[in-house]
Amino acid sequence: MNKVWLVTGANSGFGRAITEAAVAAGDIVVAAARRAGTLDDLVAAHPDQVEALRLDVTDAARIDEAVSDVVARHGRIDVLVNNAGRSHVGAFEETTDEELRALFDVHVFGPAALVRAVLPHMRERRSGAIVQMSSMGGRMSFAGFSAYSGTKFALEGMTEALADEVGPLGIRTLIVEPGAFRTSLMDNVTTSPGELPDYADTVGATRKMAAAGSGAVAGDPARAAAVILAALDAEDAPLHL
Ligand code: NDP
Repeated sequence: MNKVWLVTGANSGFGRAITEAAVAAGDIVVAAARRAGTLDDLVAAHPDQVEALRLDVTDAARIDEAVSDVVARHGRIDVLVNNAGRSHVGAFEETTDEELRALFDVHVFGPAALVRAVLPHMRERRSGAIVQMSSMGGRMSFAGFSAYSGTKFALEGMTEALADEVGPLGIRTLIVEPGAFRTSLMDNVTTSPGELPDYADTVGATRKMAAAGSGAVAGDPARAAAVILAALDAEDAPLHL
């Protein structure tokens, strides 16, 4: 049976690549994006397989309703991909609570709310998969990445517990830890202005990564999407990809 996916941040980068790969596999994708119109091309190309959903993952009040609507229309959600994210670079000392909270909202509270919303449906069917897009920065941290890595470490810690809890119920969990990939992530990086030496180094390194994003250095998100799909089909895939 073909799968029903719910992918957040589906209009760009990994989210779009995962959506395209799932469609190529014959699956149905509810592609969530916070900006209207950004998925029109995919919906027009695959009207029977892609459905656009307006969803800002920081809008907690909308999440339960959005998930209930998807389940009502399609009968189930086989795969939730918590992909939406953004980057932030700044010295620890200069990163404000506001910036930190905004990043936790997107990378931790949004995914947590989505997991809580889909789990009752997955538990009832004793099947399903949850894919958490973390980062290499969810495993190690560098100067300038305290906020970004803090959120991804939190996501990973919570997800390791989740995997233990729901694995026995037949629900798969994957934590994806990409390195640098060619997406718009680094184009949209926010920075905390400052003059700490490490921070200056980090901004330079980040600009280089952004430049690499349009060249051949960083990875192709389509290849990462293929690995994620293969892992979901493999019974013995590790928790961390
Ligand atoms: P992109 O910038 O290409 O895509 C990010 C997506 O997240 C966009 O669709 C964006 O929407 C969406 N998004 C951001 N904030 C919200 C929100 N509040 N609600 C809903 N959607 C939101 O970057 P990537 O594809 O690279 O990023 C996807 C994930 O991969 C992120 O979690 C990121 O941390 C992770 N990652 C990326 C790496 C890389 O090298 N690219 C490396 C490691 C991890 P909009 O278009 O409206 O801004």
